[in-house]
Amino acid sequence: MMSTQINSTAEQVKAYCTRIGKDPLLVQGAGGNVSWKDGSILWVKASGTWLADAEQKDIFVPIDLPHLLKALDDGDFSVEPRLCRESLLRPSIETLLHALMPSRVVVHLHAIEVLAHLVRDNFQADFESLLDESTPWAVVDYYKPGSALAAEISATLTQKPTTKVIFLRNHGVVIGGADVAEADQIICKLTLALSTRPADICPPSHLMFLPPANLIDQYAPVADLDIHQLALTPDLFNRVNSDWALYPDHVVFLGPRAYVYQTWEAFNDQKIFLIELPELVFVKGKGVYAKSSFNKAKQVQLRCYFDVIVRQKPHSSMRVLTDIQIAELLNWDAEQYRMNLAK
Ligand SMILES: [Zn+2]
Repeated sequence: MMSTQINSTAEQVKAYCTRIGKDPLLVQGAGGNVSWKDGSILWVKASGTWLADAEQKDIFVPIDLPHLLKALDDGDFSVEPRLCRESLLRPSIETLLHALMPSRVVVHLHAIEVLAHLVRDNFQADFESLLDESTPWAVVDYYKPGSALAAEISATLTQKPTTKVIFLRNHGVVIGGADVAEADQIICKLTLALSTRPADICPPSHLMFLPPANLIDQYAPVADLDIHQLALTPDLFNRVNSDWALYPDHVVFLGPRAYVYQTWEAFNDQKIFLIELPELVFVKGKGVYAKSSFNKAKQVQLRCYFDVIVRQKPHSSMRVLTDIQIAELLNWDAEQYRMNLAK
């Protein structure tokens, strides 16, 4: 009886992860994570794995939940989650927030329709009018994922224990449900309430411009044609320039700054000052170009950025991460580990 129940929750979660993992408006590559609690075990997604692979690969690791909760209760937010059995995989860097949420099923996503709000200066005023309290929600300011963010989430849950949805500024959302169906229902409700019509874009009418002859061995136009609008549409090009570092995965996968040029000539003039050629360049009126090392994990992050940016009004004010917040993200060993796993 017991084991049937265990199997069925595990199977439901995995089927759900496979489904949302294929929706780029909900999950981008290795981003986002899901967990379920089964007695004294917290099953949580392993670092660097993709939710889309949930039914094909082992992507969940079992964590000793009482050990973790005891440490968190004592205020130890730098506790290392303890695995219940040996594994080559490491638990997600966001494991602590899954333990802190009391719900049985916890889903953490960087869902586009939500994220597009969370990077705006004034999103809280919009949330007050767009969301009701039928699903109790709270907002947490930006903190580096890991112990700092966990401490803040813990404080929020102490203040408002009924919270089912926690919005993380410049990051994403955490949802708690009694089961997969409830978590899914909350996500559907949120994405509908917060959905923004993207700016009208039309794919380039001409074949993409190739790079100049001296760079043709280095760079190719990115394959996702929509993304070239980031260089072809003036408002979007200005955003790339001014509002690049918006949330952690973007910085970790695509770097702390954008390489933005008015012309290929300007790029040629400036490249001598660079230690190595940037992996991704934006050339105004021409397109977006990448080296062959620009892998799938990076491509989906770039698409994520595009999807967030086309949901902004031309003059709306956005909040970018500070240089200190960016440095914190890039010097982080756990993230480097995740990058190495990302293919
Ligand atoms: Zn996250």
